Amino acid sequence: MTLSPTQPVNEKEVRTYPVRPKMELGISIHQRIPSEEELKLLKASFKSEGKRCSACGATLTKEMVHHHFEQERWFNVCGMCYCASNLDRIPHFERGHVVWFPYMSQARLNAVLRGLWAAKSLSGVNSDDHEYKEMLNTLEEITSLLDLRPRVTEEYFKFSDVDVVSSTLFLLTNEEYEKRGALFADFRWLPQRQIFEDELPFWASKDYNGLHPQKITSNITKFMSKYAPDFTIKE
Ligand SMILES: [Zn+2]
Repeated sequence: MTLSPTQPVNEKEVRTYPVRPKMELGISIHQRIPSEEELKLLKASFKSEGKRCSACGATLTKEMVHHHFEQERWFNVCGMCYCASNLDRIPHFERGHVVWFPYMSQARLNAVLRGLWAAKSLSGVNSDDHEYKEMLNTLEEITSLLDLRPRVTEEYFKFSDVDVVSSTLFLLTNEEYEKRGALFADFRWLPQRQIFEDELPFWASKDYNGLHPQKITSNITKFMSKYAPDFTIKE
């Protein structure tokens, strides 16, 4: 970016953030397959962008990368973000739920869930520590709040099943599919931890390193502001 001498240089004003994919709920038949040329570019941007998910900021190995096309461009994304936009490709018998959750974007929800899972996986350590137990109870409460979402969604919207949403999306014409946001903008995929059990130790050691339940909120916030600075904390 070049600025003319008359323009005030205000770092805050000129700071731009990278384009992030929205990872709307979707199905795989509407996803494009990258050409060889596009794959080469994706590989190069994976390295230059710090080997992270373009949506939620999670650290990835090259084996963990998925490719996603949105806003006329390609992105490298993590499995959690990818599954939300490819509901029919969720590789597990327990596919999680689609829930009404307008408070957070899909990427932010993924980052928060991952942090909760990472903190909870430490629960075997220091299990006699009273303070630690208290914190685990708090985490438990946050988790159970999220666990309630499928029931709340079911009550108000009469569905929360991933297959119901994915079958509905299959019925839409291309044109209708493009406008699916009108139907599903406030809904998110709520993943099950089991699906990402294999990737969790890697994420816990890379992104939530030193995570202690007592510091979970500050840790998740720190992670988000470092790797995904355009997440609105108040969101
Ligand atoms: Zn992601």
